[in-house]
Amino acid sequence: MQADPVLIIAGLDSGGGAGLMRDLATLAAFGQRAKTAATAITAQTDAQVLAIHPVPAETVAAQIRAAGRVAAVKIGMLTNAAVTETVTRHLPDAPAVLDPVLISSSGTPLLAPDALPALYALMARVTLITPNLPEAAHLTGLPPDAPAEATAAALFAMGARAVLLKGGHAEGLEAMDLLFTSTARIPLSAPRSATGKRGTGCTLASAIACGLAQGLPLPAACAAAKAHVTAYLNTP
Ligand code: PLP
Repeated sequence: MQADPVLIIAGLDSGGGAGLMRDLATLAAFGQRAKTAATAITAQTDAQVLAIHPVPAETVAAQIRAAGRVAAVKIGMLTNAAVTETVTRHLPDAPAVLDPVLISSSGTPLLAPDALPALYALMARVTLITPNLPEAAHLTGLPPDAPAEATAAALFAMGARAVLLKGGHAEGLEAMDLLFTSTARIPLSAPRSATGKRGTGCTLASAIACGLAQGLPLPAACAAAKAHVTAYLNTP
C-alpha cells in the first residue's frame, strides 16, 4: 500500500524561488507524494513581488477536504485572516509544521497585518512553528537580537507546542537554530552559506514535514531537514 501523502498549504511563487514549487521539489527529494492547497497565486521575480491574488477561503477548505488522509502537513504563506481561520478549522489530524510567513525578502507583506490573531490561534494547533528571527520578533514584540532561548520561550508561552527558531538572519560563521520544546532545548548548527538563495524557509519546513510523515521524532526530523537545506544551499 502507498504511504499517505504530505499536504502542502502554501502560496504559489510564480518564479519558483519559494512557495509551493519549492515545497514540491522538497517532497520529491524525500520521495513523498504531495497533495496541495494553494492559498494565493503570486507573480514574483527574485527581486520583487508584482502581484498577489488570494484564493477564496472556501476553495482552500475544499482543497484540504479533497486531500483526504495525509501523513503530515506543511503550512506556509496564508495571505489573509479568512484563509488562516479556514486552515485552522480544517486542519487534518496529522503532524503539522507552520512556517509563519509574514513578509518576503523583498519587503512585501505576505500575510495581512489584521490576520495576526488568526495566526496566533493556528500556532497553538500545530506540532511545530519555524519562525526566522525577524518573524519571531514581530510575533513576540521582542527585539530581533534578544537571546534565542528567551524568544523561543515567549512563543512557547503564547501557545506554540514546539518552536524551531531559525538563526539564519543573525551574524556569525555558523547558522544556529534552536529547537525549543516542553522537554528539550536543542541547538542545530550548520556553516553559514553565502549563496543567498530564496526559499530556504519553505524547504526547511517541508523537509521537516517529510521527516514527521516518515515517523521520525521531531529532533531527528529537524536535524535531517537542516542537513537537506545545507545541501540545497550548496548546490549551484
Ligand atoms: N512567496 C511565497 C509564496 C512564499 O511562501 C514565500 C515564503 O515562504 C516567499 C514568497 C518569500 O520567500 P523569500 O523570503 O525567500 O523571498
